[in-house]
Amino acid sequence: MKLCRFQLKEKTSKTAQQEIFQGVISGDTVHQVSGDIVGKWEETKKSWPLADVKLMPPVAPSKIVCLGRNYLDHAAEFNNAPPKEPLIFLKPPSSLLAPDDPIELLPEVQRIDFEGELAIIMSRPCHMLADGADYKPYVAGYTLLNDVSARDYQAFDKQWTRAKSFDTFCPLGPVMETEFDVTHATIETLLNGVRKQFAPLTDMIFPIDVIIPWISRVMTLLPGDVIATGTPAGVGPMKAGDVVEIFVPGIGTLRNPTKNRTV
Ligand code: ZN
Repeated sequence: MKLCRFQLKEKTSKTAQQEIFQGVISGDTVHQVSGDIVGKWEETKKSWPLADVKLMPPVAPSKIVCLGRNYLDHAAEFNNAPPKEPLIFLKPPSSLLAPDDPIELLPEVQRIDFEGELAIIMSRPCHMLADGADYKPYVAGYTLLNDVSARDYQAFDKQWTRAKSFDTFCPLGPVMETEFDVTHATIETLLNGVRKQFAPLTDMIFPIDVIIPWISRVMTLLPGDVIATGTPAGVGPMKAGDVVEIFVPGIGTLRNPTKNRTV
């Protein structure tokens, strides 16, 4: 099932505070739901053609926890040894970006990369989960995330907060898929229609059943929180005017153009 958050296109304007609705997508129609798509919800009688809505990031998380170097070949492409334990960092919710909105590049930064990633969305509080415990009741669904990274600052700062945190550096979406089988899926990233990344999701060094308990013993994961599971090899720089598409069969395509930030 594909769940989403959306705004109505005809009311979209830059200045107005736009109401965000939640919905369930069937075919070309979005049915509005009441409640909370990461928990309990019900279909209402209102619906719109999918073409008449603007999809938003499918959740409003309290935090976005990211895995670094969680694919062998990606660790190797930057001459890093694979981590012995999950390597985590945070992106702020203020970096979230809706599908199709432009990633804003910083003209003063030489290299800003895309990183196509599968993201997990949490359904309920998760604290001190034991290794081997069933993580599935804690997962509301899956979506796609572009972990945009300013490499200059990642190298200069020695830690990653600034490099990963600029506004628009966390495209998320297009939908939350509730029935998704990680063991049979691949992830692919296209830059201007050319394949740059492609890997089975089973190539993760630390798989989802390890990641969720491990993070839950560091911090309590809350409903709607997002875990980005890391990126495979093939990351690369974007320039203004590029279009990045991340595709996972069964979830869809997260597409974002890029432009230079103007102050
Ligand atoms: Zn990443």
